Amino acid sequence: MSHHISRSISQSASLSGDAAARTSAAVKLPRKLCAACLRAQSACICGWIAPHVAQVEVLILQHPLEVQQAKGSARLLHLSLAGSQLAVGECFDPAQLDAMLAGPRRNILLYPDTPADQAPGMLRAAALDPAWLRHPQGLRLIVLDGTWRKSRKMLYLNPALQGLPRLPLRQTPASHYLIRKAHLPDQLSTLEATVYALEQLEQAPQRYAALIDAFDGFVAQQAAFAPPRSGDQL
Ligand SMILES: [Zn+2]
Repeated sequence: MSHHISRSISQSASLSGDAAARTSAAVKLPRKLCAACLRAQSACICGWIAPHVAQVEVLILQHPLEVQQAKGSARLLHLSLAGSQLAVGECFDPAQLDAMLAGPRRNILLYPDTPADQAPGMLRAAALDPAWLRHPQGLRLIVLDGTWRKSRKMLYLNPALQGLPRLPLRQTPASHYLIRKAHLPDQLSTLEATVYALEQLEQAPQRYAALIDAFDGFVAQQAAFAPPRSGDQL
């Protein structure tokens, strides 16, 4: 963002006064933001909120680089799931993270369970006790919202996450996320991956189908908002 602004200012010296004036106005005037989704009101996504009450509690740990990512789905997920939490950070304060992971719910990390991801020095993930799955109301699903690389880094930087049993997704439908390149290894958005994980844990296929439908609307909106290429007329 600041990247963009500084570039347009340095270019403005060779542009007409009109363009320079527009640039400084854009820098000075704060855009009105929607208080719920934190986006400009012209790009508010709250119309796609599909309220659901999950049996499994959801804690979303969002990488800071995702906060301003227009195509990110974590906030829509958070706004749609009653009782979900969203915390932004890369390396969390251990005491703060411990508090977020506190019982009595048992924590499961939404993350592929592949030995190749065990970097030296990382704790080994505990095995997922099948008995836990009989009581979805006793579970908390931890979701890392970031690119694949950033998710790995978050895992590496937060030892409290490393030992958690992991939930690999199985048999997920094809992603509806056509607006962004591979986000998770299975190319699902954070919202889709979480929804399918909840359906898996709650053994309730289609319970969140309305949320996926709403997500389709969000994807279409983001596609329509994609910045035009130079020379394009809107
Ligand atoms: Zn909004």
